[in-house]
Amino acid sequence: MDIIKGIPVSPGIIIGRAFLLDDHREKVPRHLVAEDQVENELERLDRAIRESVESLEADRDRAAEKLGPEPAKIFAFHLGLLADKTLIEPVRERIRSERVTAAYAVSEAFQDLAERFRAMGSEVFRQKANDVIDLDRRLLDHLVGQSKDRLCELTEEVIIVSHDLTPTQTATLDVNRVVGLATDLGGRTSHSSIVAAALGIPVVVGCQTLTHHVNEGDQLIVDGKSGVIIVRPDQETIEEYEASALRQAGAKADLQDLAQQEAITKDGTRIKLMGNIEFAREIEAVQNAGGDGVGLYRTEFLFLTSPTEPTEAEHFEAYRKSVELLDGKPLTIRTLDLGADKYTQQRAQEPERNPFLGLRSIRYCLQNLPMFRTQLRAILRASAHGPIRVMFPLISTLMELRQARMVLQDVMEECDEEGLEFDRNMPVGMMIEVPSAALMASQFAREVDFFSIGTNDLIQYTMAVDRGNERVANLYSGANPAVLQLIKTVIRASKRFRIETSLCGEIGGDVTYTMLLLGFGLRTLSLVPSQIPQVKRVIRTVDISQCERLARKVGSFDSERKILNALRDELNTLVPEVDGGWSAR
Ligand code: PEP
Ligand code: MG
Repeated sequence: MDIIKGIPVSPGIIIGRAFLLDDHREKVPRHLVAEDQVENELERLDRAIRESVESLEADRDRAAEKLGPEPAKIFAFHLGLLADKTLIEPVRERIRSERVTAAYAVSEAFQDLAERFRAMGSEVFRQKANDVIDLDRRLLDHLVGQSKDRLCELTEEVIIVSHDLTPTQTATLDVNRVVGLATDLGGRTSHSSIVAAALGIPVVVGCQTLTHHVNEGDQLIVDGKSGVIIVRPDQETIEEYEASALRQAGAKADLQDLAQQEAITKDGTRIKLMGNIEFAREIEAVQNAGGDGVGLYRTEFLFLTSPTEPTEAEHFEAYRKSVELLDGKPLTIRTLDLGADKYTQQRAQEPERNPFLGLRSIRYCLQNLPMFRTQLRAILRASAHGPIRVMFPLISTLMELRQARMVLQDVMEECDEEGLEFDRNMPVGMMIEVPSAALMASQFAREVDFFSIGTNDLIQYTMAVDRGNERVANLYSGANPAVLQLIKTVIRASKRFRIETSLCGEIGGDVTYTMLLLGFGLRTLSLVPSQIPQVKRVIRTVDISQCERLARKVGSFDSERKILNALRDELNTLVPEVDGGWSAR
């Protein structure tokens, strides 16, 4: 039994079988096979080599037909390697003597050969090293199969174990089969983690070496609240966790009643609780949790789950459907936040050296105007079907905001000329996710109808810490005094200019922060729908003066640790029954 600690992302306990989703980009873990399986591994190796040779020959013939005989010659090197006994025989020998899997033996031999080519220094040999890595992947595909295809064929429920997952991979997981998720990489607010949490299954990320400990089919316990993964648990541990899972299910059922009740503090202050969504289908969860509408619709997922750029009709259908499902409650559409970790494979960009500091989000839209205008037209047209608000992400200068507004104005005029119906008074807001915008909030407040504070990015850019990097996750905290100062600055400016401010980063769904945010003066939060009842419970148990006192108290603290301790103590004293603080950092 191995116990591995990661970063908790989505609570719940699940006990099930592991499914290794691996695209072979990383080192293949060293797994041993039973004595009587060695022959089987050798046969699998022979079969994989045969199939690789066949696919290489087919590729070579296609290349010869399309490009002529010269380019087709590159396949000769690959085919030669597979026929080379001095390379393949040691692989066989290793499987026999060390009882390792064929995948591991192949990968070690090919990586070693690539390393030797690279060490020779010249460009020609570097190219050869790349060819060897290519061949390694081809063989591994035949050896272990494309895990994506295997996943489609599954009939039973599984826990996905992966080195890393892109937001696109996560968004396309089949929730009928996937009951838990654990990865080596990732942080609490990586976009993949956010999407995984929305699936409502236990999720733990940042486990670092998990894939080295887990074999396909191993029994696992994933505890999404503590961030613990137990590999091959003993019977006693299984029983312990089964009992906790039952207790948690009971507590969850209790929370259902809260959905029908108002989010109102003891002294009668009504707080708006909106949902964060990535897809229209999540609106049902917002409604079931008693949410007041959608405060953040991450529309870029329309791109990420489609092989082609969505058309205006596709954008429009998604927005019209969403606003109609909300039945009179507002839908806040964030314009495309593509870039950084959110690109479709098909639209792979020139790799950027610092993608989170690069051509991301509104910057990308302003350089791709036809795409931006298509989305804005669809948003405007959908605004004829219900209350829609639009907001621009990652604004860092006034000029950017003005440019975005100008494009919107132009698209409005175009719709007008075409006689299309839309809401001429559609509220226009911006996200505050960059310190430059937070510090200049008073200037921005004159030019928008509302703010939405995106703490996931605001923390990242204030602390200079990659939100998806588990190795620096200790520095990533919403309770950092500098981050809190910026949040206060934004709220103060919005009050002065009488515009609404909401907060839609993950701390909005973390009960540890609820009292503090109310104490700062926030009256609207947007959060993952599953957390709405928990946050409501806190709101209904406290009054605003207690929250303001807490906000003043932590205002004098100089460290994230002291602040978090004070927030937790207060929560445990006032709302002991709340199941919270599981993820707070
Ligand atoms: C944020 O940055 O806080 C936010 C809500 O946007 P996203 O998580 O999609 O970057
Ligand atoms: Mg953001």
